[in-house]
Amino acid sequence: MDLQILPLTERKPPIEDEASLVFGRTFTDRMFVMEYDTGRGWHSARIAPYAPFTLDPAALVLHYAQEIFEGLKAFRRPDGNIALFRPRDNIARFNRSARRLCMPPVDEDFFLDALKELIRLEADWVPRSEGTSLYIRPTMIATQPVLGVKPSDQYLCYIILSPVGPYYKGGFKPVRIWISDEYIRSAPGGTGEAKTGGNYAASLLAAREAAERGFDQVLWLDAVKRQYVEEVGSMNICFVYDDKIVTSPLHGTILDGITRRSILTLAKEMGLEIEERAMSIDEIMDGASNGRLSEAFGTGTAAVVSPVGQFTYRDRTVTLSNNQVGPLTMKFFEALTGIQYGRQPDPHDWVELL
Ligand code: PMP
Repeated sequence: MDLQILPLTERKPPIEDEASLVFGRTFTDRMFVMEYDTGRGWHSARIAPYAPFTLDPAALVLHYAQEIFEGLKAFRRPDGNIALFRPRDNIARFNRSARRLCMPPVDEDFFLDALKELIRLEADWVPRSEGTSLYIRPTMIATQPVLGVKPSDQYLCYIILSPVGPYYKGGFKPVRIWISDEYIRSAPGGTGEAKTGGNYAASLLAAREAAERGFDQVLWLDAVKRQYVEEVGSMNICFVYDDKIVTSPLHGTILDGITRRSILTLAKEMGLEIEERAMSIDEIMDGASNGRLSEAFGTGTAAVVSPVGQFTYRDRTVTLSNNQVGPLTMKFFEALTGIQYGRQPDPHDWVELL
């Protein structure tokens, strides 16, 4: 398939203060778009000026939420080059989400080439200051204008880019976590493993109630026993328990996070023992009190790692690492960002230069 490059008619004003960029508010001048029709496949791939779409009010995505997305980042290196972090893993996950939602897969090589071309054209939008990056949002939506629950015969797939400021402006801030046994995020056989909008829509009420009670994030428990940890907010979660790294297994209800995967690889190389198993609420609440649980952190593209300061379950609250950032949490953050920004070698070939 050819990639057409359409001329830019207008440019947005450049970023004035990179440090004040708020996540997901600023978008670049161009986007990648392609369309799909049953029988014809993907077609009309183009890099076009960033602009709103026209959608029929009956478009299937607006009624039955047939949509998927991804989130990854490009980083400016000290030598000025731009690096993507494990983009092939994100595109492979995009296609796994597509399959779960009955959507057509994309050609992974073509998609990566198109993404690189888009970023090359938008290179001026990749910020340069410490801790900043370019957030990349591939998306696919069902556009066929019909009512009735069925897989669409038409899709739109696009990639938009958003320069983002440093996640941690005044240094790390450990978060307060509410363990919810009222709401669940996903159940066995459901769509928890797919990156699809419905999962996030379903999480809003719990997040709002957590915020109203003064918490930063919700910790999701398993749907069946409501005893075992799944994820935190929209991040995977890692614990340092008995000096081992413990993280929930990939059994279909949680997202197979690329940060999670990277941290497990780094942990093995640091000589740490790893257990992919679900921690129980009791292990968290008692472990924090008796010292077996020394650190906990969320892992994800946006924050890399997000240290947990406190867990609250019903009316009991426990504090970890004195509400400070634990040593292993810090070590993983430094190791991963070191590779992403090119301050450290990349023995796993996770980085893909433009
Ligand atoms: N879980 C959920 C539900 C998420 O939305 C994300 C963010 N993509 C993650 C985990 C972390 O995944 P990753 O490390 O690939 O960003």
